[in-house]
Amino acid sequence: MKVLVINCGSSSLKYQLFNMADESVLAKGLVERIGIEGSVLKHQPGEAEKVTIETEIPDHSVAIKLVLNALVDAKHGVIKDMNEISAVGHRVVHGAEKFATSVRINDAVMDALEECIEMAPLHNPPNILGIKACEKLMPGVAQVGVFDTAFHQTMPKHAFIYGLPYEVYKKHGIRRYGFHGTSHKFVSQQCAEMMGQKPEDIKVITCHLGNGSSVAAVKNGAVVDTSMGLTPLEGLVMGTRCGDIDPAILPMLMKKENMDADAIDSYINKESGVLGISGVSSDFRDIEGAADEGNERAKLALDVFAYRVQKYVGAYAAAMNGVDAIVFTAGLGENSISMRESIAEAFGYLGAKIDKERNNVRGKACEISTADSKVKLFVIPTNEELMIARDTKSICLG
Ligand code: ADP
Repeated sequence: MKVLVINCGSSSLKYQLFNMADESVLAKGLVERIGIEGSVLKHQPGEAEKVTIETEIPDHSVAIKLVLNALVDAKHGVIKDMNEISAVGHRVVHGAEKFATSVRINDAVMDALEECIEMAPLHNPPNILGIKACEKLMPGVAQVGVFDTAFHQTMPKHAFIYGLPYEVYKKHGIRRYGFHGTSHKFVSQQCAEMMGQKPEDIKVITCHLGNGSSVAAVKNGAVVDTSMGLTPLEGLVMGTRCGDIDPAILPMLMKKENMDADAIDSYINKESGVLGISGVSSDFRDIEGAADEGNERAKLALDVFAYRVQKYVGAYAAAMNGVDAIVFTAGLGENSISMRESIAEAFGYLGAKIDKERNNVRGKACEISTADSKVKLFVIPTNEELMIARDTKSICLG
């Protein structure tokens, strides 16, 4: 069975074609600058050389048509006929309370997706465009929606209700939802496998540390809490997002800096986080470099970031009444040896000890705790596309 995974952003589209027999990637690629001058498709067929196609790509439908053409192309294609694609798995950012699992798309699901737009006005519309384009171009092929929020839907009410009047939850759906669910699901399952355990038998804290970052408490295979909330702004300090702050800061800043709602929204989403603290960059490599050269604000940004992760890990160990394993994943979690070491410094009370030799690793699944560590520490590269392909396959095979 071959499954195409599509992740549509507002002006970009990422894809991977999987052969589910062995979960290998037959081809993958990226369409950039959709609807903007300079559109381009970068197509990577298996191990062969990357192909770059520069052409006008006015909308998502044209982008997907181009991807399908590339996949069946006589020279750089990897399949003979489009009919070889049995199903398409689409990443959808927000499923609100409507979707606790991945789902096969039908008219009722499309209506529900439209209703979720107000929760993620920037992300959900391009996701929907991608689904509609595939339905048009591949009639009869199963389309499956896989939601960033779905894995977190097991959170108990006491974890997802804000300390606001209850009516705002009933009236506007204002509650904590959580994101990066596909990644937290993938690495928590992988962690169980590496421990030779079933997910149902272990308590795992998964730290997805990238540009956007979140932590999840996964008890017996189900999320009991996660750090992101109604939107992906809550929780950890991120590349450019502020994470948890005293909400009173917002009206204060709006008055003092003469900002309206849009301006403050952009300030806390795009100009804050480690970028705002360091004044250097949102990229952790730049900040680590500057800190090494003695930049005090860069050092402070790294300390603030690590401390917030440490606090969430402590909170989630408490929430689950213990923890068996802590996993680091995503760009920073998989690659920053020094950040993992800084964070794990505070795990002594848990009986978790990082092994500096083992931790000397980038982008590879492995255990990084000492042999006598009571709590196991792991680096596990995330693979959201594979998780989407697996969900798509299991839904289609029923
Ligand atoms: P997202 O998918 O949220 O855009 P990623 O998971 O790709 O982000 O993570 C990007 C972050 O990972 C960047 O801030 C980058 O600095 C960081 N990163 C990647 N490689 C390294 C590395 N070798 N050392 C430190 N940070 C790294």
